[in-house]
Amino acid sequence: MFEDARLICADCSAEYSADEPIWRCACGGLLDLRYQPRFESDDTRPMSMWRFRRAIPIRDDANIVSMGEGYTPLITREIAGRTVHIKQEQLFPTGSYKDRGASVLVSKAKELGVTRVVEDSSGNAGCAIAAYCAAADIECHIYVPADTSPAKLAQIEAYGAALHLVPGSRSDTAAAVMEAAKTDYYASHSWNPFFFQGTKTIAYEIVEQLGGRAPDIVVLPVGNGTLLLGAAIGFTELRDAGLIDRVPRLIAVQAARCAPLAAQYNNQAVTSPESTLAEGIAITEPIRGPQIIKAVRESGGRFVTVTEEEIIDALKQTARAGHYIEPTSAATIAGVKRWIEQENLPENTTIVTVYTGHGLKSTEKMMKLFGTS
Ligand SMILES: *Cc1c(COP(=O)(O)O)cnc(C)c1O
Ligand SMILES: [Zn+2]
Repeated sequence: MFEDARLICADCSAEYSADEPIWRCACGGLLDLRYQPRFESDDTRPMSMWRFRRAIPIRDDANIVSMGEGYTPLITREIAGRTVHIKQEQLFPTGSYKDRGASVLVSKAKELGVTRVVEDSSGNAGCAIAAYCAAADIECHIYVPADTSPAKLAQIEAYGAALHLVPGSRSDTAAAVMEAAKTDYYASHSWNPFFFQGTKTIAYEIVEQLGGRAPDIVVLPVGNGTLLLGAAIGFTELRDAGLIDRVPRLIAVQAARCAPLAAQYNNQAVTSPESTLAEGIAITEPIRGPQIIKAVRESGGRFVTVTEEEIIDALKQTARAGHYIEPTSAATIAGVKRWIEQENLPENTTIVTVYTGHGLKSTEKMMKLFGTS
């Protein structure tokens, strides 16, 4: 069914079979996946993102590693006087949308006969890869900077993944995992193109949940851009298949304290990053940066940055509306507010955004922000 799936180098255009267990080109470049998705619905499957089975490049059903992820509710909430549709992506098995990517990536690893993977992340991507590897009975090694707070690592360890604490900076950790990836399969949420074949399903679900039409605007966070690039792939595929008229405008949100792509997009000097509450999107050198900028530009979108005050404000207002999300997720909601306030949007504009991660993920931070003791 997926004979035509090919890995294509973004730098030198070299092509590889999608059945080669590689995560980057011989030239060092990023790999993207090229193939023809199909959209016949498959109502016999459970309500998970695997309903879109024919658009996901896994050959054999027996290799699918699924825990019922996807089909998150699309709710509405008023933000800055507008009705906004919000995908509840915090309601995944591991508490963040990263399960979309992990489900497809780990399925592919299983299909390739991989028995051990390595990944570097101290946050939600590490949790998701660890969980799906546990479900697939694949050995999982997660590399993290040694000074990462222990609470963040408990979930990863609970799934039975091996933690490798690397002394030094985040780039020392990246160097360590690159070394390990010379012999083991690199289940990277930023390098590995199969991750994006999972995150793209958010676009399919949004269109279906809106009754078969695309929204006008989709507001998404950007660190490594795993959700934004996935959404761009998904909407583009639907447009190319003639199922929607056009790709929605993609509005990319970064924390003002760490906004390298927003600065580049707006031709401003990149200021040195500071620590932000939205640590999940505080990525100083996103490897897919040029792709993210291209996707935002081609959609007619733009970048929005939000301050720490706006993030805290959005977090509080969201909780007061009954939704418990992590601080990183609140940055996106702050971005929605700012975007609506600064634009003169027509009355009937359909706006979609997401809650990316569950509040229970960051109990420590929540205690500092809301605790009385
Ligand atoms: C991963 C993640 C994001 C988005 O990050 P990218 O680096 O752009 O993929 C946003 N919020 C949460 C909670 C996340 O886990
Ligand atoms: Zn190449």
